[in-house]
Amino acid sequence: MAQEKTKHEGSRPSSEDPADRYPKPPFPRKPQDVPGTESEMDPQADHGEQSYQGKNRLGGKSAIITGGDSGIGKAVAIAFAREGADVLISYLDDVEDRDAQDTVAYIREAGRKAIAIKGDISSERHCQKIIEVAVKEFGKIDILINNAAYQMSREKLQDIPTWEWEKTFAVNIHSMFYLCRAAEPHMPPGSSIINTTSVNAYEPNPTLLPYAATKAAIQNFTANLSQILLEQGKGIRVNAVAPGPIWTPLIPSTIPDHEHFGDNTPFERPGQPAEVAPAYVFLASDEANYISGATLPVTGGRITI
Ligand code: NAD
Ligand code: MG
Repeated sequence: MAQEKTKHEGSRPSSEDPADRYPKPPFPRKPQDVPGTESEMDPQADHGEQSYQGKNRLGGKSAIITGGDSGIGKAVAIAFAREGADVLISYLDDVEDRDAQDTVAYIREAGRKAIAIKGDISSERHCQKIIEVAVKEFGKIDILINNAAYQMSREKLQDIPTWEWEKTFAVNIHSMFYLCRAAEPHMPPGSSIINTTSVNAYEPNPTLLPYAATKAAIQNFTANLSQILLEQGKGIRVNAVAPGPIWTPLIPSTIPDHEHFGDNTPFERPGQPAEVAPAYVFLASDEANYISGATLPVTGGRITI
């Protein structure tokens, strides 16, 4: 049975103003170790557990979501299952087992197949394994969501170790290449790849140099892969979602001043994962049939032109 939510019941918000629908900073200071978990979040995040209603937009499709245990990936997994998709989630660490099992429970509650695979996607072999398992269990891959990422805040250039520079690229962009290349032969026409980039691709945060550079690379990779796959007649669309500040375990585990997170948006608050998931549903659905090579910003009003 999926975890009961204690806060944020996710019922229809009383205010019609989107700025007022979720908590605003300041939040309690509650740092976590990387990769962070949902249970230690304060306030708790909303993944649409109580609110997301599917309309069979993804009926009969199967999806892979990296980082599907928590945060944005969890909300996407819940939404996709309620839209009719079977879902494989990938995640990194033993400490995330509980988050992953909670997501699995929500997928199964929606009547869909759920698989969870733990391991490091910076390994090409592990990426191949994810694709092999999905093909064995689902027979095909209709949707690939490249969503997992690593970041760490560093004040000064000299504070960034070489291993961290390399790791950030390995997790955030190398994995995307491994997964897309391995998945493509199993993706029928009408399939879709969606990559998670960031508002950092447009406005790089000086404390997130390697991360922001990978997010810009993801934008370029998305636009280019879109052309390759459509020009070769594969019928696979490739798009990206660029979230602004979203309240997930990534934040208290990597941002020291997370008490004020999200106050730099016109909404004066971070978004919740439940507010990002519909963008992925739309891009994955046949309603987005003519959209490829695009990035959809979900930034609480922060401008990305
Ligand atoms: P999150 O911590 O809930 O999800 C990230 C997931 O990535 C983790 O659950 C972890 O299991 C997985 N992961 C990390 N390193 C991995 C590795 N080496 N191998 C396998 N899995 C690994 O945080 P989130 O905020 O939901 O992040 C999801 C995506 O959203 C990321 O791409 C992030 O860059 C992007 N994003 C987040 C924000 C934000 O403010 N939270 C803003 C813009 C973009
Ligand atoms: Mg997690």
